[in-house]
Amino acid sequence: MGRSRSKRSASRNQREERSHDSFDRLVQGFRRSETKRGREYSVQPVSGQRAVKVYTCPGCRGTIETGTPHLVVWREDGIMGAEADLAARRHWHNRCWTIA
Ligand SMILES: [Zn+2]
Repeated sequence: MGRSRSKRSASRNQREERSHDSFDRLVQGFRRSETKRGREYSVQPVSGQRAVKVYTCPGCRGTIETGTPHLVVWREDGIMGAEADLAARRHWHNRCWTIA
């Protein structure tokens, strides 16, 4: 006879899988803080592999194509709180942020 039925009993993997490009994951990288014009920002580099969407850069109003390493930037000192700041994050070309 048979196969043990207990094979499936270890299905503990019921943690919800979050949407694949979950921002939680994104921020685990090399986030750093920068101060520009007296405001604090979090700056998170995004590798080309992770750049799977097209964004508009607020610096040059140009397009950040998929596969382009770039930066995600959000304020750290917003009065609306961290979540709102995060929700308002922007994607920048590396160079545009540098000269912003
Ligand atoms: Zn730009």
